[in-house]
Amino acid sequence: MKHVVILGAGFAGLELATRLSESLPDEVRTTLIDKKDGFTFGFSKLDILFGGKEPEDVRLHYAEFAKAGVEFRREQVTSIDPVTRHVTTDAATYDADILVVALGADYDFAATPGFADGGVEYYSVPGARRMRDALSEFDSGKIVVGILGHPFKCPPAPFEGALLLHDHFVERGRRDAVEITVAGPMAAPVPITHDVSQRILDALTERGIEYVPNQHLVALDPDANEVQLADGGSTPYDLFVGVPVHRAPEVVERSGLSVDGWVPVEKTNLATRFPDVYAVGDITALPMAKAGVFAEAAAGVVAEDIAARLRGDELEQPYEGAGTCYLEFGGGKVGMVEANFLGGPKPTARLVGPSRELAADKAAFASSRRARWFGS
Ligand SMILES: Cc1cc2nc3c(=O)[nH]c(=O)nc-3n(C[C@H](O)[C@H](O)[C@H](O)COP(=O)(O)OP(=O)(O)OC[C@H]3O[C@@H](n4cnc5c(N)ncnc54)[C@H](O)[C@@H]3O)c2cc1C
Repeated sequence: MKHVVILGAGFAGLELATRLSESLPDEVRTTLIDKKDGFTFGFSKLDILFGGKEPEDVRLHYAEFAKAGVEFRREQVTSIDPVTRHVTTDAATYDADILVVALGADYDFAATPGFADGGVEYYSVPGARRMRDALSEFDSGKIVVGILGHPFKCPPAPFEGALLLHDHFVERGRRDAVEITVAGPMAAPVPITHDVSQRILDALTERGIEYVPNQHLVALDPDANEVQLADGGSTPYDLFVGVPVHRAPEVVERSGLSVDGWVPVEKTNLATRFPDVYAVGDITALPMAKAGVFAEAAAGVVAEDIAARLRGDELEQPYEGAGTCYLEFGGGKVGMVEANFLGGPKPTARLVGPSRELAADKAAFASSRRARWFGS
C-alpha cells in the first residue's frame, strides 16, 4: 500500500484526503498533517468582521474529519526534503511514497514596516476579530483599504471588504462621516478581465468608494497616520485596513521547492520537478488567482493523477484552473465570478449577478463542503 503524506489541511488538503479515501481505499493510506486544530473558510472572516460571529462559531474541527484510510496529525511541519520525500514535524518524521505540499500562503506583516502596529486586517481570524473592535470605535474619518502586495488570496476580497464597510457605516448612520478608498498595485480590480473590473468599479462608485490603481504601498507611519508609497509620495488615513504581503511558508522556502517565492508545478497535473512530489493550492506558482475553489479543483486533479499512475495510465482530464468564486456586494447580495485561467490561450472571467439567489448558493457551497469534509 502506498503512503501519501499531505502537508496542510486547508481547501486543497481536505479535498485531496477525501478523494483518496473515496477512490483508492485499498491502494493508498494517507497521513494529513496540519498545525492547527481546525479549518476556517476564508470568507468566514467576513462573518467574524461584519456578522457578529466568533472565531469558534466558524471553526470546523479536524477531530470531526473522519475518513477511512486517512489519519490526521496535528503537528507543525519543520522540514521537507523533496528529494527523499522525508518530512520532519515537531512530533515525528514521515517517509512518503507520494508527498503533497498544500501549505497555503502565509502573511508577511514585517514586509510592510508600521503595518503590524499601525494597521488592521481581516485576512487572518484573529485579525478579523480585532478589526471588528476597531471598527466599532471608528465614527468618522478616512479608511484606506490598502493592498500591500501581489499575489494575494481571493482577488475580490479587498473589494468585498470595502463594499461591506459601506453597509456597516450606513447601518450605523455614519456613512456621510466616513470616506472609503481602496488602493492597490493593480491597474484594475481584477486585471485579467476588463468587464469584471468595470462591474466592481461601478459598484464602488455607486457607493462613493474610490479605487486608486497602481499604488505601491510600502510602509505605514502610524505617528503621522500616513501610508508611504514607493514613488516617495504618501496618503493620509485615519484607519488603515491592509491586505498583507503574502509569501510561501518559511518551511517551504527552506526546502528548495520554491522558486521566486512560490512552488513551480506542471500546470496539467500539479507535479513539482521532484519525482512523486506534488504541490497544490495557494502555494503554487501557477499564474492564477489564489482561492479555495481553485485549490479544491486542483486537489481533485492530483487525486486523479495519483489514481491513473497507480493503474499505469495517463491522466485523462488535465487541470484547467477553472472555478466560480463568490463576491459579496453588500445588501445581502452576492455575485459569482466564473473564471478559467489555464484552459485557453488566455484567462477568462465573467461576473454573474449580484443577487439574493447567489447569496443562497454561496451558503450552500459552504454547507456542502462542511458536510463532505466534516460530516456536519
Ligand atoms: C478574507 C478572505 C476571503 C476569501 N474568500 C474566498 C472565497 O469566497 N472563495 C474562495 O474560493 N476562496 C476565498 N479565499 C481564499 C481561500 O481561503 C484560500 O485561497 C484557500 O484557503 C487556499 O487553500 P489551500 O489549501 O491552498 O491553503 P489553506 O486553506 O491556507 O491551507 C493551508 C494549511 O496549511 C497549514 N500549515 C501552514 N504551514 C504549516 C506548517 N508549517 N505545519 C503544518 N501546517 C501548516 C495551515 O494551518 C493551513 O490549514 C478567501 C481568503 C480570505 C483571506
